[in-house]
Amino acid sequence: MLLFNNKVQLTKHLQSISVSNSSIGFVPTMGALHLGHLSLLEKSIQNNNHTVISIFVNPTQFNNPEDLEKYPRTLESDIQKIKSISDAILIYAPTVEDIYEGNTASQSFDFEGLEHQMEGKFRAGHFDGVGTVVKRLFEIVNPTNAYFGEKDFQQLQIIKKLVEKEKISVNVIECPIYREANGLAMSSRNERLTAIEKENAAVIYKILTQAKKLFLTETCASVKDFVTEEFNKHPEIELEYFEIAEEETLISCDSKELNKNYRAFIAVFVNKIRLIDTISLK
Ligand code: AMP
Repeated sequence: MLLFNNKVQLTKHLQSISVSNSSIGFVPTMGALHLGHLSLLEKSIQNNNHTVISIFVNPTQFNNPEDLEKYPRTLESDIQKIKSISDAILIYAPTVEDIYEGNTASQSFDFEGLEHQMEGKFRAGHFDGVGTVVKRLFEIVNPTNAYFGEKDFQQLQIIKKLVEKEKISVNVIECPIYREANGLAMSSRNERLTAIEKENAAVIYKILTQAKKLFLTETCASVKDFVTEEFNKHPEIELEYFEIAEEETLISCDSKELNKNYRAFIAVFVNKIRLIDTISLK
């Protein structure tokens, strides 16, 4: 297992091991690794000659200073988890300086409206921060395939748009959501929940699956009303938004169109800890 804190050393190493036609799989993360992250790593190992994981809590994508400060940082145990999968995985855990070189600011992107929906409405500047860091990481690692979770579906669509608009040569691979046994989507932020809060948070997925069922027969508006009413019964969970949107454009659904794929998106607070989840309504 090799750990790099410095992009020049990582790039040199990647150049030294790459032969013609060898592929690099890349898994960008913010650390505090769980089985969801590890599933992305496993997919990358299966399909590439080399795999790089980055662990970097990117300051420019946080709109809330407290969230940034309290974001779990667990590098030692992350390394052990990565090792348990394979010794051959390269870890890039840069400093803020290594990525931002003294200018910790976001580039401004036009993601053709994707950035103004849902997370974009509630987390000002978030996707400029995501775009900035992912573009830099792609420049450093130059991956053949990059693995992203469907859990952050809006982010996934933004990355696809980034790759298209900036003409970056990389395949973006979409990976399914890993859940706890009770249905709660795995997330690094779950580490901040107590055992009781984790149990309570299982209701998020429960309501999402009920919404999916209702969507078969009901209008988007009545599914949204149902979800709001359900969360009113659970005051321990504060609903920030529930949205049904078309998968490609992320535009909110007013009336269902037959040839479109829809998806439900949710953000809640459990004791000030912000959790998101999503489900396909196909
Ligand atoms: P993060 O460390 O939260 O920035 O996530 C790094 C990558 O892992 C992103 O592509 C996420 O979408 C993905 N990811 C996070 N949680 C899960 C999960 N429960 N299942 C699958 N992928 C996930």
